[in-house]
Amino acid sequence: MIFKWPRKHTTHIPFGKCNGVAMHPLRNRTDKIRKILRSTYPDVKTALNHRNPFELLIATILSAQTTDRQVNSVTGGLFQRFPTANHLAAAPLHEIEDRIRSTGFFHNKARNIRACARALEERHAGRVPRRLEDLTKLPGVGRKTANVVLGAAFGIPGMVVDTHVKRLAGRLGLTPHSDPVKIEYDLMQIVPKRAWNAFGLQLIHFGRDICHARKPACPACPLRHLCPFPNKTGG
Ligand code: SF4
Repeated sequence: MIFKWPRKHTTHIPFGKCNGVAMHPLRNRTDKIRKILRSTYPDVKTALNHRNPFELLIATILSAQTTDRQVNSVTGGLFQRFPTANHLAAAPLHEIEDRIRSTGFFHNKARNIRACARALEERHAGRVPRRLEDLTKLPGVGRKTANVVLGAAFGIPGMVVDTHVKRLAGRLGLTPHSDPVKIEYDLMQIVPKRAWNAFGLQLIHFGRDICHARKPACPACPLRHLCPFPNKTGG
């Protein structure tokens, strides 16, 4: 039977295993979901091209409302011209805008990445900090971006909640919430810390490949037997 969240839940799910099996039904089901996602996507990593934490941070800010491929098409030229926080901090705004135009919202993004570079220079000697609380104080950096950077640049556990993770966490009944921060905390309770980075990335791949926003491919879904909505496409 699929665990249903109580209408008023405390958001506390006790950890613990009995004979190697998670004692809480939700964690138990999440373990099964993770196992299938792991075998479906055994080698997940961010698709954003980068050579160092600075490039990943800027690329992740640019990835809002566009595709990773689109971001990759502009970052090569951008980082060739402005290879460090120091260079980007001093760049004329119009030059940054010209180089990132095709990623959309380029006025805002250009302002954000230059302000972010300036903040890196002023507060962190031009380096990307390794703490969530420092990252989220940088202009243009929310928890999603910060967790992407922590995981992919430093190997520090972080639960990324983007639009795919948000949708799938709800559909799979892993959270009763729609607020990304609450979803992040819910997932952190039912997924072991060592698996936070991989689980987020696996859900993102799964959301792109199978459980699409409009037409999820339920008949072909490997999680169908674990999903509260196995017939969302009527298949
Ligand atoms: S069964 Fe359908 S709704 Fe459920 S996870 Fe799979 S694709 Fe998504």
